[in-house]
Amino acid sequence: MSSFSFDGQPVPLQPGDTILQAAQRAGHEVPHLCWHPEVSSSASCRVCTVRVDGRPAAACTTAAAAGQRVDCHTADLRAQRLHLLQMLFVEGNHFCPGCEKSGHCLLQHQAERAGMTDLHYETLNPERPVDASHPDVLFEPNRCILCQLCVRASDELDGKQVFAIGGHGIGAHLLIDSASGRLGDSALSVEDRAAHICPVGALLPKRVGFAVPIGRRTFDDEETRG
Ligand code: SF4
Repeated sequence: MSSFSFDGQPVPLQPGDTILQAAQRAGHEVPHLCWHPEVSSSASCRVCTVRVDGRPAAACTTAAAAGQRVDCHTADLRAQRLHLLQMLFVEGNHFCPGCEKSGHCLLQHQAERAGMTDLHYETLNPERPVDASHPDVLFEPNRCILCQLCVRASDELDGKQVFAIGGHGIGAHLLIDSASGRLGDSALSVEDRAAHICPVGALLPKRVGFAVPIGRRTFDDEETRG
């Protein structure tokens, strides 16, 4: 079987593999935020950036090929990842101690894995209105990292297109397809995959928060192991 090198370790290839898919299947951790196995890849967060034969590339969309040399956990890539994560934290309001996604949050987990101990940048402190209009799902836009997972899940898995990204630059934001622009007037159902795929605490099913004891949350074990 053909293979490529991932941080010096041989990784077997299957036809159609991206670097991220093949490396994860072989047991390697590839840091990511906007990638999810159930939907297409967008390469928007850039947290999975690796070097392929010396050139930067998003591991989630780059095809794996025999003989490639892929570097993922080098000092420069770790530093770049840390700064990306710090920028995401200061752009929103990520007050983890009061967020019901704490311990289940992929952004928090990646920051922990990256050794993030401070924000480095000045906080922007956005004041976007929270949308609590839906009977079963809350939208807290100040935690949204624009990963587009809900956009792709609604389109590709639910067949609804409830979400889209609008605006440009720092004004980019999540749009909701309803006359009022509010979640309660959209076609979203709490049964939809889009209602559960958010990697952070932006889209949250109501009345189910803080249900898992600390120590048994999604990322507690890994963080304990370090
Ligand atoms: S609401 Fe969640 S899933 Fe949707 S774009 Fe924002 S962070 Fe991503």
